Amino acid sequence: MSTEETQKQTHGFQTEAKQMLQLMIHSLYSNKEIFLRELISNASDAADKLRFQGLADSALFENDPDLKITIDFDADANTVSISDNGIGMTEAEVISHLGTIAKSGTSEFLGSLTGDQKSDSQLIGQFGVGFYSSFIVADKVDVETRKAGQAADQGIRWSSTGEADFSIEAIDKPKRGTTVILHLKKEESEFADGSRLRHVIKKYSDHISLPIEMLEQTFGEPEEGEEKPEPSLEVVNTATALWARSKTEIEDSEYNEFYKHISHDFEDPLTWSHNKVEGKLDYTSLLYIPARAPFDMWNREAPRGLKLYVQKVFIMDEAEQFLPLYLRFVKGIVDSNDLSLNVSREILQQDPAIDSMRNALVKRVLDMLGKLAKKDPENYLKFWNEFGQVLKEGPAEDFANREKTAKLFRFASTETGNDTQDQSLDEYIARMPAGQDKIYYTCADTFKAGINNPHMEIFRKKGIEVFILYDRIDDWLISQLSDYDGKSFQDIARGELDLGDIDDDEKDDSKERNETFKSLLEQVQETLKDQVSEVRTTNRLTDSPACLVVGDDDMGMQMQKIMEAAGQAVPSNNPIMELNTEHPLIQKLNDESDTDRFNDLASIVFNQAQLAQGIQLEDPSSYVHRLNNLLMEMFK
Ligand code: ADP
Repeated sequence: MSTEETQKQTHGFQTEAKQMLQLMIHSLYSNKEIFLRELISNASDAADKLRFQGLADSALFENDPDLKITIDFDADANTVSISDNGIGMTEAEVISHLGTIAKSGTSEFLGSLTGDQKSDSQLIGQFGVGFYSSFIVADKVDVETRKAGQAADQGIRWSSTGEADFSIEAIDKPKRGTTVILHLKKEESEFADGSRLRHVIKKYSDHISLPIEMLEQTFGEPEEGEEKPEPSLEVVNTATALWARSKTEIEDSEYNEFYKHISHDFEDPLTWSHNKVEGKLDYTSLLYIPARAPFDMWNREAPRGLKLYVQKVFIMDEAEQFLPLYLRFVKGIVDSNDLSLNVSREILQQDPAIDSMRNALVKRVLDMLGKLAKKDPENYLKFWNEFGQVLKEGPAEDFANREKTAKLFRFASTETGNDTQDQSLDEYIARMPAGQDKIYYTCADTFKAGINNPHMEIFRKKGIEVFILYDRIDDWLISQLSDYDGKSFQDIARGELDLGDIDDDEKDDSKERNETFKSLLEQVQETLKDQVSEVRTTNRLTDSPACLVVGDDDMGMQMQKIMEAAGQAVPSNNPIMELNTEHPLIQKLNDESDTDRFNDLASIVFNQAQLAQGIQLEDPSSYVHRLNNLLMEMFK
């Protein structure tokens, strides 16, 4: 056995990595040329990291400070190589970065795939494509790398056919950085071609701020007797920081590709905002709204924040200080001319200039969303469906901007009668009839439960619009918001029904009614004394016999349910029961002289009011038993 062979070690891929690799190969085949974008993106990140670490330790540059990427190919050998003189990797890093997937939630993500190529390819896009996309076009990949600052004999060759395992061996690598060598599949030989590669680089990677070099193309054979000139390297991309260019010069496609580079997303963004700020503070920002939520949006630990540059030098990823949590879906960069190159996360946290930048960036994002809503409502709804629930955290986190954020909210409404959340508060207010001074809403588990809620009856009868809120966060959201544009929010299942001045024609006869039915109300109260705090007559209902209402200061029923589900202690405020004295069942109850039957019927009416409001019965079998007793009597 040669010494080389004895030094070669074989490692198995982590299960998730192996699955991801296979999925990548199958799902992204129709988009195969993106492998180059992904590898160039990694090379550019590696150069950014070196430039940053080199600020503190210039020896890492090894007297070769000109960072660049070089693309080469060999048509005869059917290979393409992507080289960078960036940070490089140690052996341990190669094994971990190229053999495992460290993102938490990966196995859940893999479980959510359907096997359908089209939808899976979108999902994989959300996950981030990356290095493994090499195997879409290659049946063997070699990675030769050496960490900056280490000796030439510290090089590593990683090699794999993208199946179960990869090998690792020590090599000599005088030049720091990484070269990825793709041994193309036979049918992918089109990529071992200068024009094809240039075209793909121009299309996807033109915005990379490092020079991407290739050997000059020579066409035709030299004249007889002439030497074939040695081709030299030429830069094939624009190679300036995209955000530093003037907006008018940048094509939409360039903005889109830059977005994919920084976000590792696969789809184009919905919109972006690119701004240069000069004056007291001097910085450029380029902020994007993605079209799709990442798979780990609800993971609080998931990476978020902007990429921070100082004078075009990359400083850090995930600089969280520039945006609040409720805007964590925003991707982008900020490039400051004021900050020092050795700025750290700790310094960012304390710097008052960062607060001003953050305030300005928040405003930019909210303005950008407002503009999208106005100019392109269809795409705005896409945004809302993906990220609305995150934006709803806004009023609690950022009180100062709550009105501005609320303007962006969209809800389902009785106005449209369907479950699409597409109606704004401004639209609601514009439709309010004279005399209405509140924004009416109901919270329910589902749209259906909300729109069929008994409390809705009087609103339907009078044609008053009600928002139907069925996201879990909504009850809490409204409690944070409390009012909008000077109008307060009114839960239709809370407190006394107050229709403001809309209802002039109908006089309030509740006092009289409560007097007329005094003994019925007292008797029902006695029967349900442990379950309701009060029994009164209602003018909310037209079709249902009864409904439940929470007191003005009590916790909403939706919120109670959420807290219960989260295992938290819920204040035990019994609801108020309101009876529709026009309803035949309540009239029957009023006429009932048999105490047992009265109690059964009163309990059934109460339980049904709970059910109609989506509340789980505490003792469902007693309910069924009582109801069956009554049914049996009917059939006697
Ligand atoms: P991602 O880039 O989304 O993190 P990849 O699968 O593309 O995922 O790469 C995994 C990791 O491998 C990178 O995060 C980086 O640490 C390392 N890596 C990949 N390519 C290079 C490179 N050219 N130079 C240095 N490190 C690299």
